[in-house]
Amino acid sequence: MNTPASMIRLTTQRQILLEELSKVTSHPTACELYEMVRKRLPRIGLGTVYRNLELMADSGMILKLELGGAQKRFDATTDPHYHVRCSICGKMDDVMIQVQENITKNAAKKSSYRILGHNVEFTGECPTCQKKQTAKIKEADTA
Ligand SMILES: [Zn+2]
Ligand SMILES: [Zn+2]
Repeated sequence: MNTPASMIRLTTQRQILLEELSKVTSHPTACELYEMVRKRLPRIGLGTVYRNLELMADSGMILKLELGGAQKRFDATTDPHYHVRCSICGKMDDVMIQVQENITKNAAKKSSYRILGHNVEFTGECPTCQKKQTAKIKEADTA
């Protein structure tokens, strides 16, 4: 790992959190991760999970996604990449298109801020919700 992960102590709890987060591509919330790690760490509390996730995000070990005032989600993939969020169920996935470095450069030119990067979150409807909607329309047609 070439992240500054070594800056924080990789406790067993954090190790397990990282392992569980790395297993999924669903960008889970702290609550969802809590449910996942509880199987391996039955005594862990939700507060501890929160604290560890924040620490790990601050140190760059994991990504914290908190766009649009929605519930925070976490991601073990720390390389810059884009996301899509389902506007119906809130599910989040990666969108594997090339990261537009020129946006960051342009913003750096126009802004007095030191620009570090940018986040893109697409809004859409996930395959499951699309299917549900199609089913609803069909139902309405036959009614
Ligand atoms: Zn959905
Ligand atoms: Zn992601």
